[in-house]
Amino acid sequence: MLGDEKGKIWIDGQLVDWADAKIHVLSHTLHYGSGVFEGERAYRGKIFKMQEHHERFHTSANMVDFEIPYSVQQINKAAEEVIRINNLTEAYVRPVAWHGPESLSVASTANSVHVAIAAWKWTSYFEIKDGQVPGIRLMWSDYVRPAPNVGPVFAKANGQYISGMLGKNKAMKGGYDDAIMLDYRGYVAECTGANLFIVKGGVLITPIADCFLNGITRKTIIEIAHEKGIPFMEKHFYPDELVQADEVFITGTAVEVQPITEIGTQKYKIGSITMQMIEAYKKCINGEA
Ligand code: PMP
Repeated sequence: MLGDEKGKIWIDGQLVDWADAKIHVLSHTLHYGSGVFEGERAYRGKIFKMQEHHERFHTSANMVDFEIPYSVQQINKAAEEVIRINNLTEAYVRPVAWHGPESLSVASTANSVHVAIAAWKWTSYFEIKDGQVPGIRLMWSDYVRPAPNVGPVFAKANGQYISGMLGKNKAMKGGYDDAIMLDYRGYVAECTGANLFIVKGGVLITPIADCFLNGITRKTIIEIAHEKGIPFMEKHFYPDELVQADEVFITGTAVEVQPITEIGTQKYKIGSITMQMIEAYKKCINGEA
């Protein structure tokens, strides 16, 4: 099982033993995907961008038509407690909110809301091998990011991860690391759990986040680009522009800044803007910027 089985998980205000953190099989969310979650990283015992994550946790719940029954401050405190009680320093933190088993109507309005926060040890992806950050390989997903009127596309809602899961499963079975998804218009969108950037002619470009999650890491990278005076543009673009890109990288709380060296048959070099972003993001998470 994932993580430290001897650790504690926070559930609805209580710290319980890892093995006792269980839910009922008739929980609404297990059947209909009516939950939301967060993915956070702690560095040296401190959760990076904690306030932003827990605000998004609340906003995601609102987009799925429910309220998190704890304030952002209470979730902040609970997450810090989980890190502390489990003696974690470099960690992944997973808050999740779900609906209980009171009703199995498709509607969730009669169901209780529950919240858990778990955390486990997680070391950085910034592993430098032979003087290089290793790049990853992507393949194209068969699934696209849907239009904003197909579902709550801006929420970090668990029911929305099916297409990502299928794309990533297929990619991994094919020997790739992740899948890249187009959107419903055929524009390049993002990966299954990370946003995407390209560099072309010294300009940093990212797809407009108008039908997928505008990641916290994506926003941090955009801030860094502005601070460093790197020419930057948000725009819609088709796969042919990605094929012609000089550099490609993805961003996310878990993957941090991850260079892409292959998309299908196309190969990319890890370029200087990607390396600058890796270094600058590393400084950010270390509290140096
Ligand atoms: N897109 C998706 C689908 C994701 O799951 C994530 C990870 N939360 C991201 C983008 C990146 O978001 P963030 O930088 O906030 O982790």
